[in-house]
Amino acid sequence: MSRLVAIFRLGFLAWLLAAPLGHAEPALSALARFEPRASAITDSGGDIAVRLAISQPVPWRVRVLDHPARLVVDFREVDWGDVSRMSLSQSRHIKALRAGPLRPGWSRLVLELDGPFGVATAEMRTDQGGAGGAVVHLRLRPESEADFATAAARPDPPGWSLPKPAQIGLSKHRQTGDHPLMVVIDPGHGGIDPGAVYGKEHEADIVLAVARKLREALLRAGGFDVVMTRDADVFVPLETRVSVAREAGADLFLSLHADAIPVGHATGATVYTLSRKATNRASALLAEHHNRDDLLSGVDLSGTDDIVAGLLMSMAQADNMPRSDAFARDLVQVIRHAGIRMHDPAHEEADFAVIRSPDIPSALLELGFLSSPRDRKRLEDPAWQDRMVAAIVRGIRAWAVKDAAQAALLRR
Ligand SMILES: [Zn+2]
Repeated sequence: MSRLVAIFRLGFLAWLLAAPLGHAEPALSALARFEPRASAITDSGGDIAVRLAISQPVPWRVRVLDHPARLVVDFREVDWGDVSRMSLSQSRHIKALRAGPLRPGWSRLVLELDGPFGVATAEMRTDQGGAGGAVVHLRLRPESEADFATAAARPDPPGWSLPKPAQIGLSKHRQTGDHPLMVVIDPGHGGIDPGAVYGKEHEADIVLAVARKLREALLRAGGFDVVMTRDADVFVPLETRVSVAREAGADLFLSLHADAIPVGHATGATVYTLSRKATNRASALLAEHHNRDDLLSGVDLSGTDDIVAGLLMSMAQADNMPRSDAFARDLVQVIRHAGIRMHDPAHEEADFAVIRSPDIPSALLELGFLSSPRDRKRLEDPAWQDRMVAAIVRGIRAWAVKDAAQAALLRR
């Protein structure tokens, strides 16, 4: 199988190189359309046959990813429209299907598989029926866990991975209360990554709704500027979320989540700050889950430490971590005071990628757990959301005042 993939990959690269990228960009401005009615995913013997029709040929690629086993197919400039598993897949091996923008200019289809499958053949046939369209044919064949893991671990071609953010210089300013506090709100997940899913409820939607309310409440309260890492149902890589905060000159970064947790009966809100080592199994699982968000859409996070690497980081962290911890304590206090149920313990540490900024006080708030029926009811309740938002605003205010006072003391 590796030989087939290798041949295919060469084909892909050749295709990519031959395709008019760069200056010929305007020629691609008319988006290719995905054509669901001419597409199908079916079982064929033990194999899965994938047929994806688009209105015109575009550069594309395919690969597998592990944990969970997925096939991802990337197309340049394809509008997926409304793709649902029901309409597209008759295969019993496809557990879930998502599609959406991946990064500027590229879209991705993600098929979650029920086991290890390899890409046995992959080709794009063009101009079927003289209409100028193209059809991608893939044949997926069951293979061993080991072969699958090897294929999934294979690095992307050079030049494919997201550009690394420029090496960061640490921001010199520390908020002193003399300018509006720049709060960056990070609604977790989005786009091809819905986060935790329970029935019709998607974590990505719930946290976006709460984030918008929080933005409005902060702006109404005055003394705050707000930037959101996303304000739509779009995918944003974890790395980009951190870069957005940096570019905005964030004084404070707050990521919002509402995960499902596979162990125990977790309920209530939890505030997380950064730890180099996860403190218990639940937070380790959660960290793995969060940091895998990007892998869900195929972006490799293993290089993320590069952004925040080295001595510079540990020096800055020594300053920053107590500020993050102070914010977490304030948040816990105001949320408790608002009579909102908190998880026990209410403040935990975990190694979440989005709160690794070495110089921006950062916390991640799990509003509750979608896996808990009682939490789910609360999370969906607009009145509960309002109470939570009001509490967060009070917490941010309380922290900002104390943090500014401390900065003034340090300067003396
Ligand atoms: Zn989450």
